[in-house]
Amino acid sequence: MYSARRNIPAVTLLFIMSSLSGTVAFPQAVKFIRRAADPLPLANMLVGRAPCRRDSGSAVTAPHAAIAASSDLGSPCNTPPVKVPSVNPCNASSPAQIGCHAPRDLVQEDLAAMGKPGQKILRARDRVLEILQTENACSAWFREKDANPADTFRTLSFAVDRKGEEFVLESRNPGDMNIFRSPYVAWVFQADGSYATITINLKGAFFSPMARVVEVQKEGGPWSLLGVRVLGVGPYAGDSMHAQILALLHEFGHLVDLLPTDEGDQDGKSVQNTSEVLRFCRTEVEYKARRGALSAAR
Ligand SMILES: [Zn+2]
Repeated sequence: MYSARRNIPAVTLLFIMSSLSGTVAFPQAVKFIRRAADPLPLANMLVGRAPCRRDSGSAVTAPHAAIAASSDLGSPCNTPPVKVPSVNPCNASSPAQIGCHAPRDLVQEDLAAMGKPGQKILRARDRVLEILQTENACSAWFREKDANPADTFRTLSFAVDRKGEEFVLESRNPGDMNIFRSPYVAWVFQADGSYATITINLKGAFFSPMARVVEVQKEGGPWSLLGVRVLGVGPYAGDSMHAQILALLHEFGHLVDLLPTDEGDQDGKSVQNTSEVLRFCRTEVEYKARRGALSAAR
C-alpha cells in the first residue's frame, strides 16, 4: 500500500497548485469576460491605442500623440492599466464560486459540527499540522516515512467512540503487584496512511482527566468499584492539550508505519511508542500546547 500512500499526497499537491494558479489567473479571466461582455469603453480604448514609445519628441510619435489627445484617452504610455478588482473566487463571502478549485478542509468542517469533542480534536489537529508543516526534529522524524507528513495528516478523519472503554481495570497479581489498565485513548489501523480514520475514546485520556477504577476478578465475579484514578498520555494529564497533541502524533506514527503496532498494549509497547514520539517531538508538543493555551485564554 505504499503506492496509495505516496500517490495521494501528490494529488493533494497538484490540487493545491491548480488552486494557486487559478487564483493568479482569475483577474485575467475577469478582464477577458468584461471585454467580451462590455466591449464599448474598454475595446475602443484598446483598439485605438498606439504602440507605446518613450521618445515622444520624435516625428514618428507625434501623430500618435495627437490622436491620443483628440480622443481624450491620453497617451497610451501614460494610460494606467485597467484595474479589475482582485476578487478571490474561493472566498466564502463571494457568491460566484463556480469553477473554484480551492481545497475545502472538509475534516475541519466535520469536526466543527461535532460539538465539544470535535472542538478539542480540531484544536489539537491544528497544533499537529503546525508541527508537521514546519522544520523541526518532530517533522523530520515523520519525513523518514512520509515526504509530506502535514499533507497526509490533513487527509485524516476522526471518529469519537462514545461507547468505548470507560474504566481503569485493576488486577491483582500473586506477587502483590497491582496492574492498572486504562481505557484506550485512540486507535487506528496500522500503516493505513492517507484518508485513514483516528478513532478516539470519549472516556479515554484524550477527553477525560480521570476514570473510575474497577477490580477485575480472576474468577469472573462481579466487578467492584475502587474509586477513581487520573488518566494521562505519557507524562501529560488527561484532557490537556499536551496529551491531545501527543496522542494524535502517536496515532499518526502508526498510520505512516513509523511506530510498530502495539495492539492490546502487550508488554507496554504503547508506552514505549509514546516515549519514542516524545524523544523526537517533546519540544514541539510542549511549545505548541503552550501557544494553544495562550490563544485560548485570549
Ligand atoms: Zn500505539
